[in-house]
Amino acid sequence: MKNEDYMKLAIKGAKEAVKKGKPPICSIMVKDEKIIARGWSSVGNEFDPSGHNDINCIKASCKALKTTFDLSGCVMYTTIEPCSMCLGCAAWAGLPKIVFGAYQEDISDNPYELKDYHAKELAKNMVLANGRKMEVVGGILKEECKQLMRNFKNWMPLK
Ligand SMILES: [Zn+2]
Repeated sequence: MKNEDYMKLAIKGAKEAVKKGKPPICSIMVKDEKIIARGWSSVGNEFDPSGHNDINCIKASCKALKTTFDLSGCVMYTTIEPCSMCLGCAAWAGLPKIVFGAYQEDISDNPYELKDYHAKELAKNMVLANGRKMEVVGGILKEECKQLMRNFKNWMPLK
């Protein structure tokens, strides 16, 4: 399958999240063309400030593969550009590739993020826990991923 096909599955997961009272964002981890884990946000209703969808997906993937530092061969598809915390977690987990949809600047003006942050740029200077480099690809089905968040601001529903 192509990037777009996997991103469609992440978008489907994001729509499922709304039914569970979570923000419409989702990550899926793919290895050998199989989905090994998915992740949703657990921030708001579970009192979990680090519970971003990307971190939850990475943690579930590590459990599934019984590894802490080596997600070699995995690709994470995520509807929104990972924040710097999630990118750091991906580096700790040795994740070699991330493909995302909408850019951070498309959906928020998050005041907590690093100034001029771009996941792709930061990843260029990172060496992963397993000694590999990380590739980041952005903007896949960007408009669809952005539209998911149209009734949200900074990951919270608009009142
Ligand atoms: Zn994050």
